[in-house]
Amino acid sequence: MLQLNQSSKSNVLPFKDVTDSKKESYDWFLAIPFLVMQFVPFLAFFTGISAAALVLCGILYVVRMFAITLGYHRYFAHRSYKMNRVVQFLVALIGVTSAQKGPLWWASHHRLHHKYADTDLDIHSPKRGFFWSHIGWIISKRFKQTDYSLIKDFSKFKELVFLNRFQIVFPVLLGILCFLLMGLRGLVVGFGLSTVLLWHGTFAINSIAHKFGRRRYATKDTSKNSFILAVITMGEGWHNNHHNYPYSAKLGESFCEIDFGYYMLLIAKKIGLVKDIRLPLVGAFKARRINLTASTKELTINN
Ligand SMILES: [Zn+2]
Ligand SMILES: [Zn+2]
Repeated sequence: MLQLNQSSKSNVLPFKDVTDSKKESYDWFLAIPFLVMQFVPFLAFFTGISAAALVLCGILYVVRMFAITLGYHRYFAHRSYKMNRVVQFLVALIGVTSAQKGPLWWASHHRLHHKYADTDLDIHSPKRGFFWSHIGWIISKRFKQTDYSLIKDFSKFKELVFLNRFQIVFPVLLGILCFLLMGLRGLVVGFGLSTVLLWHGTFAINSIAHKFGRRRYATKDTSKNSFILAVITMGEGWHNNHHNYPYSAKLGESFCEIDFGYYMLLIAKKIGLVKDIRLPLVGAFKARRINLTASTKELTINN
């Protein structure tokens, strides 16, 4: 049943014409519901907003953002710490309800972003404009499939391939659950609003974090650090730090660089859910620092 025949050979990259927008065609079967979903939160003008629905919205945003940053990004894309197969599945399950496609699709494409960042082969290159880097590449036919050859380390787990292939089922089930819990307000505010906010929070790292912000490291790409993006994405806003040492589970470098994802990871480590957290040796990157006034003290590997 769960064959990997969608992509037994690499069908995603390299594309020599990735910056050529004239050749792009969009997957309207995906794009239309995606675009319609943007307007669902406005139905709150008709359904009204309750405190309970707002609390549900907040919980679903925070929990699912943690699953995206710690699960989809820091774990599946970068393997920056370890967890057992059951916890790995549960994190992927929460992540897949955020309607950002499956964990293997997300992580494999993100690996390509790091490999080709800001070159003509970057899948969401800022060179093609804000719309492309924020949304366009996701609804493009070109990047619809999962290239399992790019993520063999996780595609060996059948339960992850299952989540990846049937990814659309899980956000739909969550939406139904919210409706059963709180009626239309639960569906529109609890599920709809939190999902749309999650999308744009995550997508902003691909678009805004390669355009606006400060650079600490002279990386070859245009990645930037942003406090505001770090707060709304649980730490992902320290994108320039991340491009400098992508294997690290810790994205915020100094005390002021808030990284809720990393703090959550420390708690998870305390209760035995994760281990072998990888950290950067900050001093080792001294030569790449643009501003050398910050501390260059070494961090220890927190195993
Ligand atoms: Zn990036
Ligand atoms: Zn990354």
